[in-house]
Amino acid sequence: MKISEAKEKVLFWSKRAYAEGLFAGTSGNLSIYLPEEKVVVITPSSIRYEDMSIEDIVVVDLTGATVEGNRKPSSEMKMHLAIYLENSQVYSVVHTHSPYATSFAVCQEPIPLVLIEMIPFLGGTVNCVPLQLPGTEELAQAVAKGLNGKNGCLLNNHGVVTVGDTIERAFIRAEYMEDAAKIATLARINGEPKLIPTEIEMQMKGI
Ligand SMILES: [Zn+2]
Repeated sequence: MKISEAKEKVLFWSKRAYAEGLFAGTSGNLSIYLPEEKVVVITPSSIRYEDMSIEDIVVVDLTGATVEGNRKPSSEMKMHLAIYLENSQVYSVVHTHSPYATSFAVCQEPIPLVLIEMIPFLGGTVNCVPLQLPGTEELAQAVAKGLNGKNGCLLNNHGVVTVGDTIERAFIRAEYMEDAAKIATLARINGEPKLIPTEIEMQMKGI
């Protein structure tokens, strides 16, 4: 993929995340890693998504130095870089504060395995990463290791991270993360949610 195409995708999926309510205000960020160029194409810091244009998208190298663009890269750039360095199958990262999923992160509680879609899209129960200061190397390392081969995790008292080999896959996982958290929340209002048995989970994973 060319850098110009990755910029278009970062812009398109950022505006889509904002339109779907996965991003609020200027929070949330997403990126694509281009392994041949060894660069990360990432959303800028503190620009409203309605106003964001292709010129605002930033390109950084794996040390975080800006290669292209006049804007400051996302304040969570370190987290994106650490995830790419730690997880060799990941080429896109989506970070949201989507409300239902983040409400579980605020309770420091995993999203329980209540929905079949959680198995193929999220790898099962969604686990929590301990609270760290935003924007720090500590948070970056905690998330990079906390994914632990899964497609997503919760950041305690903060938000959500999903990953994928493409931005389309990382994004749909962010959508399913929010959907699962919403259904788990509504199920608690309606009664007592029953978890998917481990045998079914294992069968679906082919284990
Ligand atoms: Zn955040």
